[in-house]
Amino acid sequence: SDGTVQASDVDGLISEHAPLCMRNLHDSLRANKHLRHGGRMQYGLFLKGIGLNIDEAILFWKLAFANLPDDKFQKEYAYNIRHNYGLEGRRLDYTPYSCMKIIQSNQPSSGDSHGCPFKHFSPENLETRLYKDKIDKPQIQEIMTLVNNRHYQLACTRHFEVTHTKVTEKATIIEHPNQYYEMSKAAAE
Ligand code: SF4
Repeated sequence: SDGTVQASDVDGLISEHAPLCMRNLHDSLRANKHLRHGGRMQYGLFLKGIGLNIDEAILFWKLAFANLPDDKFQKEYAYNIRHNYGLEGRRLDYTPYSCMKIIQSNQPSSGDSHGCPFKHFSPENLETRLYKDKIDKPQIQEIMTLVNNRHYQLACTRHFEVTHTKVTEKATIIEHPNQYYEMSKAAAE
């Protein structure tokens, strides 16, 4: 990533290029004007990975948490955002989570929006979400079969293939949400 992503670019980039986990987090953020800690970590680090710099990240989250008074935002959230960029605390430069980490750790409970939809959504919710992406029934059935067999990353890879129909060869297996994003951007060029 070249660091040129602006806060105002995020909506368009996410809806066009992000994997389902991140689109789900973005939709929840827009619907609730809030995300819980697990979601802020998963999504915030992903956004860092696509090139949102610290100033644009603060601006993005500040605008997204529209109902929050500024002092509360600064006190409770801005520190954590700077922390993720290695500017606070132990100054570690945190990297975006891999699929394996998202699938295997920190299981979401009700009210959480983080996690992997292929692993953590109920089959009914996942199917409904896939129909919303206008995926054809036979392809949804293929994806659901992979999910039933616990091949979550293969399901995501198949999801990539059927939503990027200009790509005719088989896609590389998705191991990381930022990989999905970069592959989607490359497919659009
Ligand atoms: Fe996100 Fe990875 Fe799950 Fe795809 S497989 S939805 S990129 S966590």
